[in-house]
Amino acid sequence: MNNEHDVLCSKGLREFFSAFNDDINNPYKLADKFKENYHFIADELPIARIVLHIEAPSSIFEPDPSKRRDIDMLLCSEKDEVGTDSVEFQHPTGDNGFAKIVIYPLKGYKWNEQQNHALKFLEQMLYLLFGRARLGSMMNKTFIIDFLTGAANVKGFAAFTEILVKSGQISKYTSVFMNIKNFNYINRTVGAKEGDSILRKYVEIISNKLNPEEEIIGRLGGDNFILLIKNENVENILKLLQCIRIESSANDFKQIFEVRSRVGIYPIKANDHFSDIINPANIAFQQTRKPGNGDFVWYKDDMIAGIMRSKEVSLLFPQAIANKEFVVYYQPKVTLSNNRLCGCEALVRWFRNGKVVPPMDFIPTLEREGSICRLDFYVLEQVCMDLKMWLSKGMKPFCVSVNFSKAHLRHSDFADEIIGILKKYDIESRYIEVELTESSSYEDYDALRNFIHTMKENGICTSIDDFGTGYSSLNLLKDIDVDIIKLDKSFLDNLESDNRADEIVIKHIVGLVSDLNMNIIAEGVETSSQADFLRSVHCDMAQGYLFDRPLPREEFEKRLLDGVYNI
Ligand code: C2E
Ligand code: CA
Ligand code: CA
Repeated sequence: MNNEHDVLCSKGLREFFSAFNDDINNPYKLADKFKENYHFIADELPIARIVLHIEAPSSIFEPDPSKRRDIDMLLCSEKDEVGTDSVEFQHPTGDNGFAKIVIYPLKGYKWNEQQNHALKFLEQMLYLLFGRARLGSMMNKTFIIDFLTGAANVKGFAAFTEILVKSGQISKYTSVFMNIKNFNYINRTVGAKEGDSILRKYVEIISNKLNPEEEIIGRLGGDNFILLIKNENVENILKLLQCIRIESSANDFKQIFEVRSRVGIYPIKANDHFSDIINPANIAFQQTRKPGNGDFVWYKDDMIAGIMRSKEVSLLFPQAIANKEFVVYYQPKVTLSNNRLCGCEALVRWFRNGKVVPPMDFIPTLEREGSICRLDFYVLEQVCMDLKMWLSKGMKPFCVSVNFSKAHLRHSDFADEIIGILKKYDIESRYIEVELTESSSYEDYDALRNFIHTMKENGICTSIDDFGTGYSSLNLLKDIDVDIIKLDKSFLDNLESDNRADEIVIKHIVGLVSDLNMNIIAEGVETSSQADFLRSVHCDMAQGYLFDRPLPREEFEKRLLDGVYNI
């Protein structure tokens, strides 16, 4: 290397750079490649170490800049020492930061002028190559990372899983499907922006408990996440998921949220593929929505049978409703003070291939997919037709209550549709009562209140079904102008035990409801001692097997003619 021309055009330098023709999108891999090929120019440019330092503000690609690592390439052998007489270069990065490249000679070595020129050339090439790799890695990240939370996106999660499947490691893992409980409520309390930040902290807290090389958290959309964790770490993670405390400071107001999750857990089997991994965890997760199952459900093979049945229900429903396979039964309601029939509840039955399918086998599926709304209006129309027929026969039909799913509250024309159907069949509003279950989410609450108000304005009675099973019962009594409270059957279940707590609760609910000028009916009355107790606390009405089961229309007609029970 006699002159500048020699260094820059040397064969070594050409060979060195030709090694970088590949498309390398990872700056750390690029550094490895640099070290591997450095020997081509080692004689011409004796360098001991190169340090590449990037400083850039936080961005979606790197929300936490403190996690950025310097690239530090030691190029000399271990016995050589690094000198201090370094040269330093600085360049802007595309994301408002700068990249600093510092090149150190061997201890005691001084570069000459030509070498300094070559170093400048080399560092500019480095800047370009690393800039390209950094850009490439950012681009790659956009494909595999969910930037809102920092979790992997579906593609990233799939790629990670695929590697474990191919390497035969997957059976050492458990997949966990999770969803944050009441996230809508959190979002509404703190606003969407702070809600996003809570999601990010949720992911960060979970990620900190994962082994970054071997385990992963993926976001499937909304507040649904999936984890792939080593079997030995499952217990730890499930414990963490029971309650994650997250601090929020929306509107300068510090608040701690105890974030709980619903979780489906599936220990992966050998030979499982990507779809075999998410689906069972999701199926187990769906079971957490069923009352009594708890928030953490482990997958069991027989859950598939339930899913198949519910698929069948969805498939058969449109045809079944067209074929009029749904039939309305009527269960009498009785005034407790005189044992007289005072009304009834319409309960639907599905007649399929000569068998009766009970509501609990199809209503939850229809609720999930929204077609319950169609069925409820169908039932209301059937009830209107029956009422019309009874009236035309000169019978005194009383008021019929019809169940409506909470799903209707999401539709702004819910009230209008009911009013429209009553008009269509020319049925007076006093013959229909609308039963709605207690609202379980804050979102439904306003809609419920508005709906009940509109019903009242139109002379249609409303009742709150399964009262006492939701979590806002007392607020409901205070805030909502409903006519009738239907006390859930579960209150009666323990009446005959020694524990008097339920007696006390029932007595006070009945008193409270009557003081608020509402009526109360006890559901699921099966024994005369239950009826006696209810009478003793002045409960207005009762409904249950003690008086009658839900009856086919013709049977119920007989009760209309002779409406007294000898009980
Ligand atoms: P629900 O509205 O709480 O209806 C009362 C349920 O308790 C009925 O079950 C009834 O047969 C049962 N039952 C009545 N008396 C007794 C008793 O003394 N002991 C016991 N163990 N059970 C009694 P069913 O008919 O199987 O209906 C179950 C649920 O299905 C209903 O609960 C309601 O939530 C839903 N459902 C039924 N028909 C409709 C409908 O047309 N639309 C909607 N959205 N839901 C409906
Ligand atoms: Ca009901
Ligand atoms: Ca009920």
